[in-house]
Amino acid sequence: MSISTPTSVTAVAPGRVNLIGEHTDYNHGRCVPFAIPLATTATLTVRTDRGLTIVSDRAEPWTGSLDDVDARTVTGWPSYVAGVLWALGQDGWQVPGLDITISSTIPLGGGLSSSAALECAVAVGLAGLVGAPLDHAGRLHLAEACRRAETAYVGAPTGGMDQLASLLGAVDQAVLIDFAGPSPVTRTVPVALATSNLTVVVTDTGVRHSLADGDGGYAERRAQCEAAAAALGIASLRAADVEDLTRLTDPTLRARARHVVTENARVVEAVGALEAERWTELGSLLSASHASLRDDFAVSCAELDVAVAASLDVGALGARMTGGGFGGCAITLAKSEIAPRVRGAIDAAYAARGWPPPRHHEVVPSAGAHLT
Ligand code: ADP
Ligand code: MG
Repeated sequence: MSISTPTSVTAVAPGRVNLIGEHTDYNHGRCVPFAIPLATTATLTVRTDRGLTIVSDRAEPWTGSLDDVDARTVTGWPSYVAGVLWALGQDGWQVPGLDITISSTIPLGGGLSSSAALECAVAVGLAGLVGAPLDHAGRLHLAEACRRAETAYVGAPTGGMDQLASLLGAVDQAVLIDFAGPSPVTRTVPVALATSNLTVVVTDTGVRHSLADGDGGYAERRAQCEAAAAALGIASLRAADVEDLTRLTDPTLRARARHVVTENARVVEAVGALEAERWTELGSLLSASHASLRDDFAVSCAELDVAVAASLDVGALGARMTGGGFGGCAITLAKSEIAPRVRGAIDAAYAARGWPPPRHHEVVPSAGAHLT
């Protein structure tokens, strides 16, 4: 692909919450994220030389050239952008010198996928510049390139859910993703929040992780899942069922595998509940997912557990941590009239512990990445 016109484009890519199916993507499992109204905007302007500038309203600006991208010497936050240019260049795209300006309403490192939104905004912008299609197949390709950017260039071993959610999201729809095969298979699932008088509250605990900076937890969980699959003699935990778990003698590996196996089953039940609008059942599945992530997968933290417990105490249908864990955000599914009480109960529980007040966002399933 090569540039024709225009020479400047703007693309918007949303963050996401994962409704259910956590730490399943890299285990060839299933998940159901949806795109949210919080989003990242990227404006890409073609230069006449090989220069590259990357400016964000949330970070220090970066100046270099495409040679730095090719040499893979870009580090820190600009590597998410450079990684996308590198990945699409690998796929044969003619990447020009660019001035890239980024702005975002997504909290960084908060589990709402600011990283994928950044990648996808740049990828969709570049697609707009080179005239690449933004149909379903084109979006699957961009998602794969962005995933490659994050794993191979940035060095964060993420599984691919976030990029697919940002690129395939749709209004009032979640995206069911199945990672069983060589390429992910996706379909949309209705999430009729408004007509059912329901609200999803996202609570940002303020506790921060970094998937790329070697805090170890995420990569360690991935390694434990691979070790559990190897001990069972299967390619991935997707192929395991509950009976297999008794064959795992290491209690840590058994607990990690139990989370993945039961979470994959919960996703199937949750999709059935969404399609039939059985909200009480969906809420119970969310809460069960949280307990599994807390007790078996050990990726929750006190701030997430307190938010979930406070929501359930005031009558929410269900609540869970969302994203990789070790901080970040919790989501609560509640009747809309309960939502203010949910926020108040979480705030009070945090204040009682002397923790800084969390930030809440009410989110609805929103459009995927697009050119403006
Ligand atoms: P999450 O994706 O859950 O927000 P990650 O740790 O995966 O958390 O990604 C966060 C990192 O992505 C930030 O530390 C920063 O390096 C980069 N990033 C994301 N969005 C932006 C942005 N708008 N401006 C600058 N850097 C960003
Ligand atoms: Mg991320």
